Amino acid sequence: MIHVGIGYDVHAMVEGRKLILGGVEIPHDKGLDGHSDADVLMHAICDALLGALGEGDIGHHFPNTDPRWRGAASSVFLREAARLVGLRVGKIVNIDATIIAQQPRIYPNVPEMKRLIAEALQTPIRTIGIK
Ligand code: MG
Repeated sequence: MIHVGIGYDVHAMVEGRKLILGGVEIPHDKGLDGHSDADVLMHAICDALLGALGEGDIGHHFPNTDPRWRGAASSVFLREAARLVGLRVGKIVNIDATIIAQQPRIYPNVPEMKRLIAEALQTPIRTIGIK
């Protein structure tokens, strides 16, 4: 049986925060606001995986009221989502993600994002699409 999940996330850009997308710290004058590292791309992928499993969403598993997740690397959330997929004897076939942002330029960072997401999910890089 194939399960398909759709993830979606939005974070505000604010001054005084690092910009971390897909695990990559991108030099920019603003960063994403949030409780964890606010990696909106990893959050959306995590939600897609949890959604495919019928396991709620990232806020359910990692509430922003829990101090454990303050400043947490979002790869931790992805690893847990992948672990839950594994518990169901599931397999991630592919991830297709779209980033919507006016700035900064995303494209030069895509190869490293793919590498880090694939590493967190323990899946081959070729299964990860980011555009
Ligand atoms: Mg989020």
